[in-house]
Amino acid sequence: MRNYDVIVIGAGIIGLSLAIELHKQGLDVLLIEKGKPGREASWAAGGMLADFASEMPLALRDLASASATMYPEFVHQLQDESGLKIDLRSHGTLLFLEEPPQPCALDDREWLAGWDDPEPELNAPFLKAKYRAGIYLKERSVDPRDLTNAAVEACRHRRIDLSSGNQALEVRLNEGKACGVRTNKTSFSAGMVVNCAGAWAGQFSPCPIPTRPVKGQMLCLIMPQREMVRHVVRTPAVYLIPRSDGRMLIGATAEESGFDKRTVPETIQELRQAALDIVPKLSEARFLDAWAGLRPATPDGLPILGPSAIAGYFVATGHFRDGILLAPITAKVMAQVMTGRKPSIDITNFPADRFGREARLTAS
Ligand SMILES: Cc1cc2nc3c(=O)[nH]c(=O)nc-3n(C[C@H](O)[C@H](O)[C@H](O)COP(=O)(O)OP(=O)(O)OC[C@H]3O[C@@H](n4cnc5c(N)ncnc54)[C@H](O)[C@@H]3O)c2cc1C
Repeated sequence: MRNYDVIVIGAGIIGLSLAIELHKQGLDVLLIEKGKPGREASWAAGGMLADFASEMPLALRDLASASATMYPEFVHQLQDESGLKIDLRSHGTLLFLEEPPQPCALDDREWLAGWDDPEPELNAPFLKAKYRAGIYLKERSVDPRDLTNAAVEACRHRRIDLSSGNQALEVRLNEGKACGVRTNKTSFSAGMVVNCAGAWAGQFSPCPIPTRPVKGQMLCLIMPQREMVRHVVRTPAVYLIPRSDGRMLIGATAEESGFDKRTVPETIQELRQAALDIVPKLSEARFLDAWAGLRPATPDGLPILGPSAIAGYFVATGHFRDGILLAPITAKVMAQVMTGRKPSIDITNFPADRFGREARLTAS
C-alpha cells in the first residue's frame, strides 16, 4: 500500500487549498472526498470576502484581514495553475446598519454621507427609513464555484491524488499516532491526517470536533441589465451579491435544521421580496436557481485550526460564515504548522483540543 505524507479529508475550499499548499511544500498528498469535490458549503456560498472588524468576533479579525489581503494573489495563482477564470470583484460593499458600529475607525471605509444614490438602482427612501447608518467598505467578492472548480483543476495540474466518492469512516491510529484513514471502500496510510470535512468533521474524528451544520438558503436572479448593481449590498435582513456575468445572488438564512439541504419556496420568496425592497428593479429579473448549503459551525463560533491531542492528526474546519474568505490564510498557516514551522499568524485562539482531548483508540 502506498504511504502518503498527508491525507486531507474533505475537498471543500479548505481541503483543496490546503492540499495545494502542502504539495507546494513538497509533500505527497491524498485528498479524500465522500461526494464530488467542492459541492457542499463551498458551492453554496455567496462569496463575500467580508472582513469588516465590527461584524466579526475579535479573535477572528487578524486572520480575516490577513486572508482578505492574500486574495488577489490566491486567485491569480489558482487561475494560473488551472487555466480557469475566477470572477473576483473589487467594487466594494454598501453596508446598511440599524446603528453605527462602535467603535468604528474610518481608515479604509467611508460613511455614505446622506447616501443619496450610492447606487442609482437602490431604493434610498426605503433604506433611509429602515437603517441609520450606511458605510462603503473596500471589500472584494468572489464566485466560490469558480474558485472551487479552479482549485480542483489546480490539484489535477499538480497531480495531487484526489479520490472522490470515498467516505472517511475512521482515522487509523497506531500506538496513539495517526497513521491513515479507513474509508467505505479501502484503507490508506499516511504520516499525517488532516480533517477538513466541514459540517461533517465530527462524524469520524478520533477526538471531539463538535462541528454542526447551519443551513443557509439562497437564490439567484439574472439582472435585467448586467452591472445594474455593481456593489455588494448588505443589510441585517438580506445581502445581494452581483456577479460579472449578470447574475445576482440573494441570501441567506441561518437555520439549525440538521443535515437537511432542502429549500423552502416560501423562504426563498421572502428573501426575494427583501431584495426587491432594496432594488425594486429586480422585479424585472429572471429567477435562475435556489439552493441550500451547510455552514460548518462550532460551539464558540470560531474555527478549529492546528494540531490535535493525537500526534499526526490535525484539524482545519469550523469556518462557519467565513470559509471562503479564510481559505488562503488557513491553507498557509496549516501548511506551516504541519511542516513543523511557526505559523506566520497567531492561531492560539483556535486550538483543536478546546472541546476535549480524549481519543477513541482503534488498532491500525
Ligand atoms: C448559504 C451560504 C452562504 C455563505 N456565504 C459565504 C460568504 O459570503 N463568504 C464566506 O467567506 N463564506 C460563506 N459561507 C461559508 C462557507 O461556505 C464555508 O465556511 C466554507 O465553504 C467551508 O469550507 P469547507 O471546505 O470547510 O466545507 P465544505 O465546502 O462543506 O467541504 C467539506 C467537504 O468535506 C467532505 N466530507 C465530509 N465528510 C467526509 C468524509 N467522511 N469523508 C470524505 N469527505 C467528507 C464534504 O463532502 C465536503 O465536500 C457561506 C455558506 C453558506 C451555506
